[in-house]
Amino acid sequence: MEKIQEFKKYLNTPRKAVLLTHFKPDADALGSALGLAQYLKKKGHAAQVITPSDYPDFISWMPGNKDVLIFQKDKPEKATRFINDADVIFCLDFSCLNRINELGDLVRKSTGKKVLVDHHLEPDKFADFEQWDGTAASTAELVFKLIDELGDKTLIDGEIAECLYAGIVTDTGGFRHSNTTHQVLKIASELVEHGADPYKVSKLIYDTNTIERLRLMGFVLSEKLKVLPEYRTAYVALTADELRRFGSQTGDTEGLVNYGLSIKGIRLSVLISDRKENIKLSLRSLGNFSVNDMAKAHFDGGGHRNAAGGQTSLTLDQTVAKFLSILPLYKDQLNNE
Ligand code: 5GP
Ligand code: MN
Repeated sequence: MEKIQEFKKYLNTPRKAVLLTHFKPDADALGSALGLAQYLKKKGHAAQVITPSDYPDFISWMPGNKDVLIFQKDKPEKATRFINDADVIFCLDFSCLNRINELGDLVRKSTGKKVLVDHHLEPDKFADFEQWDGTAASTAELVFKLIDELGDKTLIDGEIAECLYAGIVTDTGGFRHSNTTHQVLKIASELVEHGADPYKVSKLIYDTNTIERLRLMGFVLSEKLKVLPEYRTAYVALTADELRRFGSQTGDTEGLVNYGLSIKGIRLSVLISDRKENIKLSLRSLGNFSVNDMAKAHFDGGGHRNAAGGQTSLTLDQTVAKFLSILPLYKDQLNNE
């Protein structure tokens, strides 16, 4: 089923589809899954979106959100049944099965066809059909292209368009990151033509802060942000206690890492936070410096050249020490590029 024509033929018969996002989905992962699910339903398929974990309030407004199954929160047996019964499993915005935790094993064992729609670097090879492009700014764009290549662009209605537009807005940092190309703006423009409202989407994503989240931001900027000029690096380490003190909810730290990168001369910014499950790292860089390489080599993670994530099972202090100890390895790169 490598070719789009074969995939198209496969979808001529009504199928039971499951759509999966990565752990702690962002707007790109969730928007891609919800947008594609609505398209599949319009085509007469059954489509169930399943997320491995919960996700922030500021993306819960998306059309179709109420039907999402959250594996950790809702009954895992239900999600397991959907995956075991699926004819086809779509993996959206991730391409390493270890990013969906225990769901990864279920996908590996499933006899259903696997479809990968993603833009992360170095994908695992497990899919029967791939819509993968490491140069795409977002997975949502690739969902748009997939629907287009299936000959169904006219089926993109306002709700589908809104979900996909949300993915593009967030993964381009509001059309500000270096991945904002002509092609991205063209697809975004088409989505607006199909009914997405840029003002509404941006308001819902960016202007629905809680006061606690703003106070956490203020605390981080005034007391936690460290700058290491010799490495052109900024970083923040947040303890579990600090996160608790500000009543931190899923998604409250999203975007914080970008402030470090907004300092003149800084090329690398890292947010290290003590989560219940593990220590989570968010890495961002400018230019040629690859945080994908850094996350892969030292923090069991990956992502894109300028935005990546990772984790450790060390303590927060040990993780910070490890991060500081590897910086000298990158000193030349950070200063030369
Ligand atoms: P964030 O810092 O916002 O969690 O993630 C930044 C980018 O890296 C996103 O595209 C995200 O999907 C990706 N990413 C985050 N954590 C991981 C990880 O553990 N492995 C891989 N391969 N990508 C990750
Ligand atoms: Mn993405």
